[in-house]
Amino acid sequence: MKIKTKLRLGLGVLFLMILALSVIAAGYIYTLKEDTENILQDNYKTLDYSRSMFLALDQIHQGPEAGARFEQNLKEQRSNVTEPGEGEVTNKIAGHYDSLKKDLNNPQMPVLIRNDLAELTRVNMEAIRAKSDKALDTVHSAFIWIALTGTVCFLIALTLLVNLPGNVGNPIRELTESIRAIAAKNYAERLHFSGKDEFGELASSFNTMAEKLEEYDNSNLSQILVEKKRIEALINNMHEPVIGLDENKKVLFANEEAVKITGIAVSDLLGKSAIELAEQNDLIRALIEEKEGLHANSANAAVPSLKIYADNKESYFEKEIVDITIVPTGERLKKFIGQVILLKNITPFKELDFAKTNFIATVSHELKTPIASIKMSLQLLESQHTGDLNEEQKQLMSSIKEDSDRLLKITGELLNMSQVETGNIQLNIQSSSPYAILKYAVDAVKTPIEQKRIELVVQAEHQLADVKADMEKTAWVLINFLTNAVRYSQEDSKIHIQLTPTQQGVKFLVRDEGKGIDSRYRTKIFDRYFQVPGSSKTGTGLGLAISKEFIEAQGGSIGVTSEIGMGSSFYFELASA
Ligand code: ADP
Repeated sequence: MKIKTKLRLGLGVLFLMILALSVIAAGYIYTLKEDTENILQDNYKTLDYSRSMFLALDQIHQGPEAGARFEQNLKEQRSNVTEPGEGEVTNKIAGHYDSLKKDLNNPQMPVLIRNDLAELTRVNMEAIRAKSDKALDTVHSAFIWIALTGTVCFLIALTLLVNLPGNVGNPIRELTESIRAIAAKNYAERLHFSGKDEFGELASSFNTMAEKLEEYDNSNLSQILVEKKRIEALINNMHEPVIGLDENKKVLFANEEAVKITGIAVSDLLGKSAIELAEQNDLIRALIEEKEGLHANSANAAVPSLKIYADNKESYFEKEIVDITIVPTGERLKKFIGQVILLKNITPFKELDFAKTNFIATVSHELKTPIASIKMSLQLLESQHTGDLNEEQKQLMSSIKEDSDRLLKITGELLNMSQVETGNIQLNIQSSSPYAILKYAVDAVKTPIEQKRIELVVQAEHQLADVKADMEKTAWVLINFLTNAVRYSQEDSKIHIQLTPTQQGVKFLVRDEGKGIDSRYRTKIFDRYFQVPGSSKTGTGLGLAISKEFIEAQGGSIGVTSEIGMGSSFYFELASA
């Protein structure tokens, strides 16, 4: 039954009972009133008339006044005949009174009248008793009925009082608790209201909603799980190591390759702080290390390779750290949520690179001897022991000499480069005089400077401290600067050499008045084999790269300042001895 119907029924029955109670009470009260009124109206008045007639009868000999009173009361009694037999008694009184009036001295008549009056009183007294009994009956049944109806009313009211608050309140409380459970994502929560009332309907609607939410949640969860598995499988099947970190550098995932190279068990890796792992594991330290310029997000990053010994072999990897950011739902700002460390296996390229370096080293080394013997033969030819040479032969010889010098320079550079690449630079660092280095370099470039009629302006401060340097290699760098300056300078221009003391040591600077270098290429010219597009193709693109390696290997720094059309200034700085 519906709550509404229940309430209506309960309160309706209560209302009807109260109505019935009132009607019954009113009915009985009315009947009682009627009964007492009847006694008063019908019998009390007759008794009063009888008493007055008694008194008047006693005084009938004292004057006509008593007779009038008797008659008056008799008249009233005549009009108040209510009980059975009362009429005859009244008529008898009237008959006997008439007889008395005719003969006042008749002693029998007053006696008869008194008897009649007594009879009249008796009839009325009996009527009063009967009516009183009836009234008592009425009171009795009124009591029973009112008590009965009152009890029913009380019971109904009590039932409503006991049941109604619980009937309405309990389901609402249960509903509130279930809604709270649903809000806390406990979608398995159900309402169990039996019955077909409004709460039953509410429970079934609520349960349908919870079921759908559960289904939605499960379907979403299973879908997410499937997607998660798919992504895990994808990452695991990648041949390159991948490690995912959260924003606090905790390891979120690591594919099989990553586990293999780190040599740490998956259980010891996942969920652990990479920073803590790095304390014991050098490789993890190298992996999470973010050096300036090495980050994947910075352009032109020169990525150094990582040499990792795993799986019984040496492998080379290039590391890339990718920052992961998301824009959370409902927000606008990007939020950093972690990083992915990607390792690119470059072992095959490295092996090829080694093969190339070895090949270059071998070839350039093998070429050096025949070139040296060519140079030697040229010197013998020049020394006229082998006879005089005509002008044409001399010119041919000078061009052979030039070419063999270039060849020697190229093979020298290639050899140096292969040494740099294999990490075999042999440095002989000594306390060296900057002036000696300067002189050595200037002497070496004398001929080309003279050929181009270039004025060499040397500004070397006095009493410069000695520097920690490999004399030969530092001079080589300065020669390379000067050779480039000559190559990119116009004829009859100037080349400045400055030697200045710095905080750490001495700065060597070569400034030319040539075409300058575009800012786009300023950092790239120190890369191996790089040549500014459109520049002379006679070089190898190795000179500055070797210079950089040589200077940095000696703990110094190298750089360039240049403006297109304004010349270039190449410099390096070495620490004092
Ligand atoms: P190369 O043997 O080709 O000269 P380098 O490494 O010495 O190789 O130089 C790299 C590039 O830098 C050159 O190709 C050239 O374009 C540029 N470069 C070097 N020095 C100068 C300079 N003084 N003026 C202008 N460009 C220069």
